[in-house]
Amino acid sequence: MLQLPTTIEKICFKDVTLYLKRDDLIHTDFSGNKARKFHYYLENEFPSIKKLISYGSSQSNAMYSMSVLAKMRGWEFEFTVDHLSEYLRENPCGNYRAALENGMLLRQAQQPYIDQAKKQSPPELAEGKATLYIEEGGRQKEAEYGIRILAQEIMDWQTEQGIEELNVFLPSGTGTTALFLQKAFVGEGVPRPTVYTCPCVGDDTYLKKQFLMLEGDELLHPSILTLEKKHHFGKLYKENYKIWLELRQQTGLEFDLLYDPLGWRVILEYQVLFDKPLMYIHQGGLLGNESMLPRYERKYPELKL
Ligand SMILES: *Cc1c(COP(=O)(O)O)cnc(C)c1O
Repeated sequence: MLQLPTTIEKICFKDVTLYLKRDDLIHTDFSGNKARKFHYYLENEFPSIKKLISYGSSQSNAMYSMSVLAKMRGWEFEFTVDHLSEYLRENPCGNYRAALENGMLLRQAQQPYIDQAKKQSPPELAEGKATLYIEEGGRQKEAEYGIRILAQEIMDWQTEQGIEELNVFLPSGTGTTALFLQKAFVGEGVPRPTVYTCPCVGDDTYLKKQFLMLEGDELLHPSILTLEKKHHFGKLYKENYKIWLELRQQTGLEFDLLYDPLGWRVILEYQVLFDKPLMYIHQGGLLGNESMLPRYERKYPELKL
């Protein structure tokens, strides 16, 4: 079902050269990184499950990917948001529109409802139950399954290419992907890649907390890099739009507008990453651009390439 392993290409941007892991090409309907996180739910049987529930933001890639998963598996999908803008309700687009088309039942409710739903269906007790609960953004243990496969693909490629040392970079939301990737790389003997990431949602303290929820041993955490200036998730930064346009022009590739622009800005700020060959993971999420791009175009009409 998933196109694995994903290809790895050499690309140049500004004055740096690096390897790009094309996880954006995993599946036409799955957001790249969410396909890795939900891989477990595609490969295993859940005979008693009838319904998938989760919560988060009304434009998230995770929401859309869960709607695809539920559709593939014939489950009902109920998704709770605590806020839905009037504009989006009247003009459905991007992840929201696509998830509705996949049959998502949207519920608007506050945190207490979500906590109650969680209690009724803790993720670790999913089997044997009729309802499967997935944490916001897929931040849970089961994500490790697919991310281990990603790690193995990278190490196999390294062996094939004779690349002994490697730095890997990917921007983080919940940090689940970066954390499980670094964990999967840790082993005896051979030097394993070092995972670097930057927080896109919240700051480095928030990201550290997210890591700790999944892994208590800090030695197994990825290295966190940040820019000097504070960054707010979803805000329209001119620098982000600019680098996104430049990326599209110089590499011919489209990146996501929420995570990748910050990721690339961080990379260019930390030349030390290039002391070893560097790999950037393209985690997909392009459907979200359907709503982000018009907002950027309206705000910065003078920026066009
Ligand atoms: C979800 C997502 C992320 C963040 O992944 P985490 O595992 O939550 O850190 C980054 N990039 C894209 C494109 C995503 O869809």
